[in-house]
Amino acid sequence: MEPSPLTLDVLILGGGAAGLWMLDELHQAGYRTLLLETESLGLGQTIASQGIIHGGLKYALRGRPSRASRTIRDMPLRWRRALGGEQHPNLAGTQLRSDYCCLWALPGLRSRLGLLGARLGLRVKPVPMPADARPIPLRSWSGPVQRLDEQVIEPQSMLTILGNQHRDRCLKIDFQSGFEFDLDSEGHLQRVRLLNPETSEPLDLIPRHVVLAAGGGNGPLRDMLKLSTPSMQTRPLHMVVARGDLPRLNGHCIHEGKPWLTITSTVDCADRTVWQIGGALAEDCVGMTRSETIQRARRDVLRALPALNLDGIQFGTYVANRAEASSQGRRPDGPTLFQEGNIMTAWPTKLALVPMLSDSVLDLLPPAARNDAPQIDLHEWPRPSVALPPWEREQTWNDAHSVAPDLR
Ligand SMILES: Cc1cc2nc3c(=O)[nH]c(=O)nc-3n(C[C@H](O)[C@H](O)[C@H](O)COP(=O)(O)OP(=O)(O)OC[C@H]3O[C@@H](n4cnc5c(N)ncnc54)[C@H](O)[C@@H]3O)c2cc1C
Repeated sequence: MEPSPLTLDVLILGGGAAGLWMLDELHQAGYRTLLLETESLGLGQTIASQGIIHGGLKYALRGRPSRASRTIRDMPLRWRRALGGEQHPNLAGTQLRSDYCCLWALPGLRSRLGLLGARLGLRVKPVPMPADARPIPLRSWSGPVQRLDEQVIEPQSMLTILGNQHRDRCLKIDFQSGFEFDLDSEGHLQRVRLLNPETSEPLDLIPRHVVLAAGGGNGPLRDMLKLSTPSMQTRPLHMVVARGDLPRLNGHCIHEGKPWLTITSTVDCADRTVWQIGGALAEDCVGMTRSETIQRARRDVLRALPALNLDGIQFGTYVANRAEASSQGRRPDGPTLFQEGNIMTAWPTKLALVPMLSDSVLDLLPPAARNDAPQIDLHEWPRPSVALPPWEREQTWNDAHSVAPDLR
């Protein structure tokens, strides 16, 4: 006998920050919603991200307000409310790496002008930090250091909080061998058949609307669903991680009008401080070997923080792809949402922009209707776990002096 299908208002594919945030908002708004995750929550970008809730610094540094800077500047306040439990999703309890970022600039006119642009262009404005209020590695910095009230979240903690709140509505699937679908002649996705990854029992879903929120997985999903244009672009970052007896620091060193080095700090499972080092470094080092990237990172860190002692600090690297709607290789101005038939494709472009993407999905949906279809007991279905951050997966660590030149 065929199993009775589960009718849904919205089916979400992908459980990163975007999928989980939408799941929460749609559920709160009364839509019967289910999220499918093929690996672990946030694998791809969210778990690899630096967790900065940007308010548009990168754009403001260029000195003129753009569409992109206007789009992003309200986001820190929106996140602050969610993190404070004053607005859905309720992210109260999410660990914060820091309540603010530090800004300091290498000597040079463009860097100084950039900092001025930041003061003029941002809604959350940087304010000068007296030396004794600065993080330790910046206390002896001879130039100005500013405090920018952009929070830095622990992405793994946010994924855990949202994943736990919606455990009933998140299913782990085997996308390769446990996912089939029917499209009608107009390309509407009518039915999805899942096989329970543990028991192989089938489950049929009849979704009214489908949202692809699978980050880099959206490209292959769109191909499979015969959605051809517009397509996806990926922009890689070669990030550096450093661990050991490091001071806590979250912020951007500005050089030549851009965040040259972006450092965020966390703690690993052995209680060591871990720095994620990105910014222009991570873009410039794409295509470089692991060894070259670590040597460059060491040089740049010591230039940005001359008082720092890197003896005994171990280094690793990881590559992560930013997945976005195609924009000729440039970062899109904001989040992107396409609707084709009953399928939407969603890319937030930035973690900070996830709330705006979620609002756009809600705007495109008809009001939630009372859904009297019988509930199906999904308690036996496996649930996705939260992804491990790259430094907990990283196998090879080297101190900066002992990096073999051929290691990638
Ligand atoms: C190194 C790095 C640092 C960054 N730092 C910042 C930052 O500091 N601040 C900021 O605002 N932004 C930052 N970003 C950007 C930000 O991380 C992303 O914009 C955001 O996390 C994207 O979230 P997402 O949910 O769309 O995608 P992802 O986090 O990639 O999640 C996609 C999910 O879909 C799942 N999936 C894939 N295929 C399928 C399928 N077929 N079926 C079901 N599930 C599937 C994946 O397993 C994953 O769980 C950074 C990005 C990178 C790479």
